[in-house]
Amino acid sequence: MDKEDLKKRLWDLKKDVGSAQVIAVSKYSPVADIYKAYEIGQHDFGENRVADLEEKAQFFSQKSIVDIRWHFIGNLQTNKVRDLLRIPNLWAIHSVSSKKIIEELIKKEHEFKGEKLKLFFQVNTSHEEEKSGFLDFDELKEAVEFFISYKSQRLQLYGLMTMGSIRALDQQAAAFESFTKLRSARDEIQKELGLNYLKLSMGMSADYQLAVKEGADYIRVGSAIFK
Ligand SMILES: *Cc1c(COP(=O)(O)O)cnc(C)c1O
Repeated sequence: MDKEDLKKRLWDLKKDVGSAQVIAVSKYSPVADIYKAYEIGQHDFGENRVADLEEKAQFFSQKSIVDIRWHFIGNLQTNKVRDLLRIPNLWAIHSVSSKKIIEELIKKEHEFKGEKLKLFFQVNTSHEEEKSGFLDFDELKEAVEFFISYKSQRLQLYGLMTMGSIRALDQQAAAFESFTKLRSARDEIQKELGLNYLKLSMGMSADYQLAVKEGADYIRVGSAIFK
């Protein structure tokens, strides 16, 4: 991958999205390309498989690089939680999608060696079956209360995450609906539970502009950066 092209794409994207943080989704990229992006100044990367993330994070940690932030964005199984928590420079998990996963994370939190691991609770705003996530507001609220009741020392509820529909005929309209739903859920949680710090993780290559308009704090962009 040509470094100048990559730099141009990254800078144009950042200009385009203002204060939203760009997570470069590197799940299809070799570590050499991730390193190029890192050298350009991109330090947040997203991966969706624990084994791949482990390997890529290891590469950076062997170079004694500590200012890289790994975001786990994939479907998480309970039997992978321990391996995930041990990954050096893991910064956030965007795909906390069930009470079972919350329990497992709390049970294994001592495996995390960083300061505080940030958690985004995933909401299945499009109700598509193949997607994980809390299905409605009550389910989400219950999970938030469940998590808070543990008073975890190492894990911090940081925000909410969603994805637009995969199958809708009008992808943009469907994405817009998903993002609006997530923002409303965040506002409701804020009102009902008094949590006023929750961030929004939403928007991918095809729909990040809409997400930014709807107030995304973090966008997760892969193909538009790495091609
Ligand atoms: C792959 C992926 C992305 C990035 O998708 P692009 O279309 O390549 O930008 C964002 N979020 C999640 C959860 C993903 O799995």
